[in-house]
Amino acid sequence: MNTSSASSGPVAGGISESDPQTGWFPISVRLAGVRVLLVGGGEIAVNKGRLLLDHGARIDVLAESLNPVVQGWVESGRVRHVAGRADESALKEHLPGCRLVYAATDDRDVNRQVAALADALNIPVCAVDDPQPSSFITPAQVRRGAVRVAVSTGGAAPVLARRLREQIEALLPEGTGRLSAYMQSRRAQVSERYPQVQDRKRIWEDFLDGPGAEEARNGDDIRADARLNALLDAARKPGEVWLVGAGPGDPDLLTLKALRLMQNADSVLYDNLLSPALLDMVRRDAELVFVGKQRDRHALPQDEINNEMIRRAQAGERVLRLKGGDPFIFGRGGEEIEALVEAGVAFRLVPGISAANGCAAYSGIPLTHRDCAQACLFVTGHAKADGVLDLPWDDMADRRQTVVIYMGISTLPQLAAGLLGKGLPADWPVAIVERGTQPAQRVFTGTLSNIALQAAEAQVKSPALVIVGQVVMHRVVSP
Ligand code: SAH
Repeated sequence: MNTSSASSGPVAGGISESDPQTGWFPISVRLAGVRVLLVGGGEIAVNKGRLLLDHGARIDVLAESLNPVVQGWVESGRVRHVAGRADESALKEHLPGCRLVYAATDDRDVNRQVAALADALNIPVCAVDDPQPSSFITPAQVRRGAVRVAVSTGGAAPVLARRLREQIEALLPEGTGRLSAYMQSRRAQVSERYPQVQDRKRIWEDFLDGPGAEEARNGDDIRADARLNALLDAARKPGEVWLVGAGPGDPDLLTLKALRLMQNADSVLYDNLLSPALLDMVRRDAELVFVGKQRDRHALPQDEINNEMIRRAQAGERVLRLKGGDPFIFGRGGEEIEALVEAGVAFRLVPGISAANGCAAYSGIPLTHRDCAQACLFVTGHAKADGVLDLPWDDMADRRQTVVIYMGISTLPQLAAGLLGKGLPADWPVAIVERGTQPAQRVFTGTLSNIALQAAEAQVKSPALVIVGQVVMHRVVSP
């Protein structure tokens, strides 16, 4: 997935272009009782054969000779041996009627010939360790009962896939298989009470969020049933709004809570400040609603955004209002929740890493410093409609602090002039961090007298943060 386009504005619906590596589409194939042709009887065939037997396939092994393990399978009646070379006539005879073919000999040319013949018959074929002639590949798997997590890099980096599998392995609780079996066994009961898909989804999500999930994982079905029944009996929950800070752009800076809500929302309202990499992490079937500025028109007025949230929540949706940075720092979070309260809509608020924190850390500029900055002031450089900057100039000119200016790029000349006018020296340090924490981050340092010119020359664009004060001199970059 291409997330390096973080600088080019939000993408629609998180659809990325396909490329040779992402063109591998994972599906699960039913193998129980199904015929699979395994070409080769050696070590490589053993690995694949074991996997196939685990999934209940009926295997025909086409090989001249058999490794003792495969021989054992044949003798126990679990596998049929078709003796002979994997030449064209043998393949033409045995390929038809197979659902899958594994070309698993240790001879790449033979495997490729098998692949070509199977392909000609439109039978999915995997030439082991050779993605190029294959029409399917076998992903690395994590298994917990009926639960399968498959990791594939599209053949690009099998070692990475295996490493990721190990990490997921450690992450997935042992009882996940039991939990899945429990949920399957209670499915009919839930569907009967709640015929609407949306309602059922919500019940199961609430179940998974509550203690019942852990109980089912531990095999305590009686307790889990009590929880599930309580959820089934509860009246249908009304919708709600989650106001969530998504941080300054690097998806790794999301909080766990933000990520969880992003995975659970029915709809997501977002604007320009949100990097596309973050949108990619929203649940696939959530409705993405763009409420920011578009080229040919202004941003939706705040009232309309509020009304949209309220309308959706009242219709029962779990609405995620996803905000860049932190919702309560120049994010209009306060106004939005006031409107929600007035309409009687329940909300949850999740803080995010604000641009000041993100930009400071990713540019190496501390916001406070024992030697020179005992305080830090966040101000907005956004001018009022008449172009006037209504700011606490006297406070901002205090030298023992850092001043962080949000939305200050278009008014930078006025800001610098204002501070100089209040007596700060011409060489007072200033930094600009553009697209902080994102792949295209740029950092500029200068002084009150030259920073506006620098920004203009470098064509600095929003979002960018201005940091004023001696902390800029303490900037450190990792060796
Ligand atoms: N609620 C947000 C701020 C919204 S105001 C927060 O807490 O960060 C929008 C301003 O935030 C931008 O004009 C810019 O000054 C700053 N900003 C947001 N994301 C930024 C980023 N990734 N890099 C630099 N500045 C950013």
